[in-house]
Amino acid sequence: MIAIVKTTPGPGHVELRDMPEPAPADHQVKLEISHCGICGTDLHVFHDTFPNFPPVILGHEFVGRVIEEGAAVRGRVDRSGRYAVLGATAVTCGRCRYCRSGDFMFCLDRRGMGHGVHGAFTRYACVRPDQLFRLDDNVPEEDGALVEPLAAAVHAVTEMTVVRPGDIALVSGPGPIGLLCLLVLVHQGIQTIVAGTTADGRRLALAREFGAARVVDVETNNLQDAVGAETGGTGVDVAFEVAGVAASAAACLDALRPLGRYTQVGHFGRHITVPFDRIGFRQLHVRGSVGYTAATWDRTLRLIARGLKPSRIVTHRLPLERWHEGFELFERKEAVKVLLSASSASS
Ligand SMILES: [Zn+2]
Ligand SMILES: [Zn+2]
Repeated sequence: MIAIVKTTPGPGHVELRDMPEPAPADHQVKLEISHCGICGTDLHVFHDTFPNFPPVILGHEFVGRVIEEGAAVRGRVDRSGRYAVLGATAVTCGRCRYCRSGDFMFCLDRRGMGHGVHGAFTRYACVRPDQLFRLDDNVPEEDGALVEPLAAAVHAVTEMTVVRPGDIALVSGPGPIGLLCLLVLVHQGIQTIVAGTTADGRRLALAREFGAARVVDVETNNLQDAVGAETGGTGVDVAFEVAGVAASAAACLDALRPLGRYTQVGHFGRHITVPFDRIGFRQLHVRGSVGYTAATWDRTLRLIARGLKPSRIVTHRLPLERWHEGFELFERKEAVKVLLSASSASS
């Protein structure tokens, strides 16, 4: 089967390769993958700025059907179902305090699909049944490929941050996770300002389409003026930093009212300088958000079943063979979410 493989350590070294078709171990099921989304993490693995274990098949945001079960899989897995797959728990120790509390993201032994073990930019993958999350039968299959990034947004907005009806929110950074945070906030009826740069033009247009109360290009407009106009001069109640950019973090701290809540979702990848005193003087609540728990996935699937449609951020659909084009479209911010598919070609 063809697959997008990180072949050896170091920057680059990603290519389309023929890989042996996997057979499920006794405790695994084999999936036929229908769609897998390109994520910032895939680009980080490409550039070698995220830990990876080559040779490894990339891709972790995927949906598929079960076509085979290992001998020890108990209870039949419904083959008519389409399943989103929690690839992040491919390898965990199962014994540490974080595994025991459900916060497997912090397990030191954890290896996720697409960088730690083989992922889903190919046709077949083998996983444990507990990694499967069944899509509601009425939900389009593409939405299943968006469960993983949407779960990260659901975790940030609804689990790690107190957001109350009547609050005004700021999302700084309209990439895939930022736009999914916006979809969750709008779904909850929260008035939301979305900030980005001129290069984010297409993404800001989508934010407007998704129901942002106001979108701000911070290179051509003053964000703090826009926040003042939207909030009657008080500042926002909650701010999500999703860009992973120092200036964006500083702008979020600036935009918050006293006692406001700041949640760090983006990754800077280096040390940054921000006016930390604002946190003290305004008595801000600052939290971080990374990944999700299995319970977040259950809630995310329920939100999708009830009409939240994460596939609205999909801008491109490409066959696996055109992966490089997809990576470049994403890197240049021309695309928001690119779905790759090993089956029929389309664009
Ligand atoms: Zn991802
Ligand atoms: Zn553990």
